[in-house]
Amino acid sequence: MQFKQIIGQKKVIERLLSSYRENRVAHTQLFLGSEGTGAFALALAFAQYINCEQKQEGDSCGICLSCIKFKNFAHPDLHFFFPTTTNDKVKKDPKSELFLDEFREYLAKSDTYITQRGWYEHLKVGNKQGSIFVRDASDVIAKMSLKPYEAPYKIFIIWMAEKLNVATSNKLLKTFEEPPENTIIILTAERYELLLPTVRSRAQLIKVPKINTEDLEEALKDKLQLGNDRAKEIALLSSGNWNLARDLVENTEDVQANFVAFRQWLRYCFKPEDYTKLNKFNTDLARVGREKQKALLNYGLDMVHQCMLHNQNHRELVMKDGEELDFSLKLAPYINTHNQEEIYRLLNEAVYHIERNAHPSILFTDLSFKLIDIFRAARTKGKK
Ligand SMILES: [Zn+2]
Repeated sequence: MQFKQIIGQKKVIERLLSSYRENRVAHTQLFLGSEGTGAFALALAFAQYINCEQKQEGDSCGICLSCIKFKNFAHPDLHFFFPTTTNDKVKKDPKSELFLDEFREYLAKSDTYITQRGWYEHLKVGNKQGSIFVRDASDVIAKMSLKPYEAPYKIFIIWMAEKLNVATSNKLLKTFEEPPENTIIILTAERYELLLPTVRSRAQLIKVPKINTEDLEEALKDKLQLGNDRAKEIALLSSGNWNLARDLVENTEDVQANFVAFRQWLRYCFKPEDYTKLNKFNTDLARVGREKQKALLNYGLDMVHQCMLHNQNHRELVMKDGEELDFSLKLAPYINTHNQEEIYRLLNEAVYHIERNAHPSILFTDLSFKLIDIFRAARTKGKK
């Protein structure tokens, strides 16, 4: 991965480059960026740059031996750790080392813009959430104790550091604080609040913001060959998330499925007298798996946003057409500045709790009742 392949993030790249130029690369760093911002891709590009044998102005060369090995994610001084879980191949005691082939495959397939959802799908583990185990911590320590094979720096990239469980991070605290010489540890994480404070305090924080819309638009034209209008449309919809942008282009099916489910759900919330139907909907939803539940909630966030655009008369920014547009027009009168914030908060909180293994059926039932109240209030207000 070279910096020039990164989507946007010019400021972060500049910061990384100057830390290198000024010889103050922290030995333990935390790249913090929400899904689709490219925090992992940046970590990889930085690692490649640091070890490149013929650095160019502002980027690695991409062609030296070291760069070639980085490109294949197979440099002997590059080590990956990431969440794993049992699957068909590894039936007990999972750890990163046992999944390195799969991880490299997944990196190649996703162009290093990786997501938890994509990773678990790649492993075919369905609903299971992974963890970074204390076994991994032992491997980190063992690998660190060896001298670099050939590169100036040994690099450890720990993806999804929020998945370091307590035992793992306790075992690694000293390492984070003081890794051996010529060793750089890059943790990447999506959610600061899920990181253990002991981990946070030992790493230099590099914030990776959402990708700006213009950069997304360029990347959509450049990497996915979209035309100008379509690129603009998708970029606006993707709120700074390259993975979402890519999904929107490649997986229109998912969007359609989310739309149908979300519309159905809201219809039940508008007619709570059909409680048995709503109840069945929630029970079914509880079975589809966390990632799909999150996708539905994220779709809901987007739909509410589109409604607000209608209400603010920014029709030119509304990115829905066909049935979705019809639905957003019907829903818009029930969304106002006051309840929009409330709905955003509820949907976001639900995503948060799903990630923390909340009981889905209870969660969706509770959320449905809150939405029923919100829409009831909006209707009453409308009549006055
Ligand atoms: Zn190079």
